[in-house]
Amino acid sequence: MKKDEIIRFCNSLGLDTLGFIKCREFTELKDFFYERKEKGLENEFEEKDVLKRINPFNYMEEGKTIISIAFPYLHDVNYFDNGFSVYTRGTDYHRVVKSYLSKVCEFIEGIGGKALAFVDSNFLPERHIAYLAGIGFIGKNNLIITKKYGSYVFLGEIITDLEIETNERNYKEIQNFKECGNCELCYKACPSKAINPYKKNSNICVSYLTQKKDLDDKHMKLLKGRVFGCDSCQNSCPYNEKIEFSKIEEFYPHDFMNKENSIQLINASTKEFKDSFFKTSCGWRGKNVLKRNALIKINNDKGDISIVKTDSPYLKDYVDRLLNSNKI
Ligand code: SF4
Repeated sequence: MKKDEIIRFCNSLGLDTLGFIKCREFTELKDFFYERKEKGLENEFEEKDVLKRINPFNYMEEGKTIISIAFPYLHDVNYFDNGFSVYTRGTDYHRVVKSYLSKVCEFIEGIGGKALAFVDSNFLPERHIAYLAGIGFIGKNNLIITKKYGSYVFLGEIITDLEIETNERNYKEIQNFKECGNCELCYKACPSKAINPYKKNSNICVSYLTQKKDLDDKHMKLLKGRVFGCDSCQNSCPYNEKIEFSKIEEFYPHDFMNKENSIQLINASTKEFKDSFFKTSCGWRGKNVLKRNALIKINNDKGDISIVKTDSPYLKDYVDRLLNSNKI
């Protein structure tokens, strides 16, 4: 059976958390996406066209099956608290996950199918697909939580024209948060209350704020030492205790990403940045946004940012605003 062959091949690559669903329009998400749009809860990274978001056939007209695969990234390492989320510290997951998925696509092509790979920069509802495919459940923290690796996973998908036997979970159960029960630890831990019992507002999620190009003063204050990403809701989750570590070597933290590195980041030339931070999972955001966040961190840690030399009007503006806010 093609399904068993694909599973065996993925297992041979070390990928053991994957599932299959029919390629179909996700009409059940339509109202949800429209409601978020109306309430202004969408963020700048989300696809604005709802009909596109729910329709994977836009990618492959003859698609029959979607394969969802989890890529664990947490290693057995003492992660030094330097403001970088754990997921950012290894080699860029866009490249790593794509390289694994390309191998799976080649395998599928070898057994007579067409296959297209996706990681992050696409409009597929990835967590929804992962839930339906049985990769894990969606927690009150909005993350997919797997049994083996907790929520410390990246997601990748493959659309193929092969008909593969599937066993889709019922989407109506997603919002019951059955597995969370009465737990609300992530709500309590969320620094901006972006997740709370009443709604999820990704526009004030601190992880999102660290990625946003323009920050209001009130949002700068919310970063509180975070340079990229925010692990508060993951770190507080009981499902992330006693989990297995990743064996994907590329996600092992680079040395410079596992020590205090704000000054190194601020002083990095374009070449130095390209040879270091750019290669990590947060490098895609570019030098200036990362430098801005490091500035905010240093200021938050009571360091002296008045000595920072920069030719960038973007960064100068943040230095001035931070120095002004220190006077208040
Ligand atoms: Fe669910 Fe508790 Fe984990 Fe939040 S911290 S996702 S409520 S189990």
